[in-house]
Amino acid sequence: MAVPLLDLSRQYSYLKDTMDKAVLDVLDHGRFILGPEVTELEEKVAELSGVKFGIGVASGTDALLVALRACDVGPGDEVITTDFSFFASAGTISRLGANPVLVDIDPDTYNIDVNKIESAITDKTKVIMPVHLYGQIADMDMILKIAKKHNLKVVEDAAQAIGAEYKERPAGSFGDYGCYSFYPSKNLGAGGDGGMVVTNTLENYKLCRSLRAHGENPKYYHRIVGYNSRLATIQAAMLLVKLPYLREWSEKRRAHAKIYNDAFEGIAGIKRPVVASYSNFHIYNQYTLASNKRDAICEGLHKAGIGNCIYYPVPFHAQDCFGSLGYNSSQFPASLKASKEVFSIPIYPEMTEAEQSEVIKTVIKLSK
Ligand SMILES: *Cc1c(COP(=O)(O)O)cnc(C)c1O
Repeated sequence: MAVPLLDLSRQYSYLKDTMDKAVLDVLDHGRFILGPEVTELEEKVAELSGVKFGIGVASGTDALLVALRACDVGPGDEVITTDFSFFASAGTISRLGANPVLVDIDPDTYNIDVNKIESAITDKTKVIMPVHLYGQIADMDMILKIAKKHNLKVVEDAAQAIGAEYKERPAGSFGDYGCYSFYPSKNLGAGGDGGMVVTNTLENYKLCRSLRAHGENPKYYHRIVGYNSRLATIQAAMLLVKLPYLREWSEKRRAHAKIYNDAFEGIAGIKRPVVASYSNFHIYNQYTLASNKRDAICEGLHKAGIGNCIYYPVPFHAQDCFGSLGYNSSQFPASLKASKEVFSIPIYPEMTEAEQSEVIKTVIKLSK
C-alpha cells in the first residue's frame, strides 16, 4: 500500500462546503487584498498565540523579513540563529544585509543549543532567532534570559509550530515577534503562500503593518522603505475555515506520534523524536526519526511508495551561498550528524490506521 507524505485532498473533502462558501464570499465582496477576513484571522491567530496583535503577510519568509526589519536589522548587524532549519531562517537575515551567526543544535530536540548562544554574541548582535523545528518549541526560558541580559530582541521562527506549547505557553508568545507560515503543507496551511507576524505591543504592530505595505504610514507617506507583502483575502478566508480544527488536528498528530513512538521503541538503529521536559505540546509538524542507515531507509521507502522527506540534508554552514561566512563543519557536529541521519515520515491528521501500520512495518523492515 502506498502512503503519501501528506494528502490535503482528504482535509478538503470534509471541509468542502464551508471552504467553497468562504472562498466564494470573497469573490462576491471583491476585497481581495487585506479584506475583512484578514482582519478576523489576525485577531484569531493573535488570540491563539496569547498576544494582542497579528499582521498578515504574504508568506512565512516575509513574516521573518518584516519582523527582523522591525528589529532594525540591517547591513553589518548580526542575528544569532540555528545551523539547522529551512533555508528562510538564515536567508532572510542575509537578505537584509546582516550576517547569520550560526549556532549548533541540541542533538535530541534538533533546536538551537542554548548553551552555545552566549559565546556567539558580539557587539554587532541585534537579535536571537530560535526556530521551533518540527513543531517543538526551543528552550525559550534560557533564550529570553540571555536576550534580556544582553539587551537583544527575540524573533521566533514558529513557521512549523503554530499551536505548540512550552510550559503551557503558546508558540509566538515569547519573543518580541512570532512568525508563522501558512504554506499549504504546514500544519495550518492556506491555498497558496501566506504568513503572519504576531506581537504584543501596539508600537511593534504599527511598525509591521507599515513594513508590509511599502513602509507607508499614513497611506502614501513613507518615512521608511518597506515591502509589498500583504496577505490575500482568499487565503485568510480558507484559514478561518481551518483554524477551529487546529487543536483537533494537533491532537491527532500527537496520537499518531504516540503510536509511532511505541512501535519504534527498542528498534536498533532507529532514534525516535525526543520531547523535552519543557515541551508540553509538541505538534509534530513533522515526525522525524534518525538512523545511520538513513539513505538506504529512504530509498526503500520511496520504492515502497511511502512518503518521506529529509528536513534538511544540508546545514546552513555548508550551503554554498554561506561559504563567505567562513564556518567549517567541525564547529557544528550535532547539526552535521542530524543532516546525515534525519528523515520524516507521514503524520498528517487524516492518515488511517492501516496506512500507519504499513509505514511502521516498512520502516522496521528497512532498518534491519
Ligand atoms: C516554511 C518555513 C519558513 C518559510 O515559510 P514560507 O511560508 O514557505 O515562506 C520559514 N522557516 C521555517 C522553519 C519553515 O519551516
